Amino acid sequence: MSLQVRQRVSLKAYNSFAVEASARLFAEAHDDDQVRQALAYAAGQGLPVLLLGGGSNLLLTADVEALVLRMASRGIRVIQDDGERVLIEAEAGEPWHPFVQWTLQRGLVGLENLSLIPGTVGAAPMQNIGAYGVELKDVFAGLTALDRRSGELREFTLADCGFAYRDSLFKREAGRWVILRVRFALSRTAPLHLDYGPVRQRLAEQGIDAPTAADVGRAICAIRSEKLPDPALLGNAGSFFKNPLVSAELAQRLRAAHADLVAYPQADGLVKLAAGWLIERAGWKGFREGDAGVHRLQALVLVNYGQASGQQLLALAQRIQADIAQRFAVALEIEPNVL
Ligand SMILES: Cc1cc2nc3c(=O)[nH]c(=O)nc-3n(C[C@H](O)[C@H](O)[C@H](O)COP(=O)(O)OP(=O)(O)OC[C@H]3O[C@@H](n4cnc5c(N)ncnc54)[C@H](O)[C@@H]3O)c2cc1C
Repeated sequence: MSLQVRQRVSLKAYNSFAVEASARLFAEAHDDDQVRQALAYAAGQGLPVLLLGGGSNLLLTADVEALVLRMASRGIRVIQDDGERVLIEAEAGEPWHPFVQWTLQRGLVGLENLSLIPGTVGAAPMQNIGAYGVELKDVFAGLTALDRRSGELREFTLADCGFAYRDSLFKREAGRWVILRVRFALSRTAPLHLDYGPVRQRLAEQGIDAPTAADVGRAICAIRSEKLPDPALLGNAGSFFKNPLVSAELAQRLRAAHADLVAYPQADGLVKLAAGWLIERAGWKGFREGDAGVHRLQALVLVNYGQASGQQLLALAQRIQADIAQRFAVALEIEPNVL
């Protein structure tokens, strides 16, 4: 099928912040061939290509002078099933949460803690999505990507991807790789991860003492719906800042000044602080200026109350960063991709 390219398309409906910005050119790729057509078309116009999944990890601060290519390829398939371990492959454009539900409906264990994360399968490896004690890398079995430099397909193993906390080779080499499809190693019997946050407690409240993966998925959906604003109702991109990693000395000094500091020692000696705690303690929770604000229940989430521009949201984020640096000597890093 040949690619349909449109001019000057509003991206408001294509980014979860619902920020107004337009794409010089816009197209949707339903298969590998259309991805190649789009790359060739953009090259012919002398324009870069910006890949887009669900737009839930983006902050658009200006019109995009590029061909915005929305990954719309669909397909989920079982590659291998030995009765215990099951290898699944999904196309980049598959919406993430329905994909997770597809696996849970088949009794597969592995993705339940990643329920209800917005976005697409193809973007999930970009920042090694994580939630409730599980990261994509824990169930990752490989992916196929197109190298925009050489035009060749490449297969990636877990070791190739350089996954880290909200990070990967694909994020570090932004603009080089088009992730086409991702493979997941799931299981019918793997142990569930129940020890993070209120998951176990929520299941106990429901009288579930021997939960299935689907039960865990449902509990996590319920917890997330209470804690996080729904982008369909209030524009946001989830956590706006990464949880910072600091030295043990700094964590100790902060703990001396703030007995209730939320801090998690890491295997490498560093300490992970809760960015949300720092922002809330600095008094930003519920702050609003114009239509840009900090969510009233979740200090880590910046929100667009309606007409905020990407520039206004970025300016607010920078004010928060400067304040946190001054108060706590901690550098907060922005999580979404700022364009
Ligand atoms: C309410 C809310 C809750 C969230 N909760 C979490 C959470 O718990 N954990 C978490 O990790 N994240 C969370 N996020 C962030 C976001 O959902 C994830 O990062 C998600 O994987 C982004 O997917 P997307 O398709 O929307 O990506 P986009 O925002 O469309 O793109 C993100 C980046 O990936 C690139 N990209 C997209 N598709 C491809 C592709 N196929 N190949 C190469 N590059 C590509 C884009 O160019 C861009 O740089 C949350 C966001 C929201 C709004």
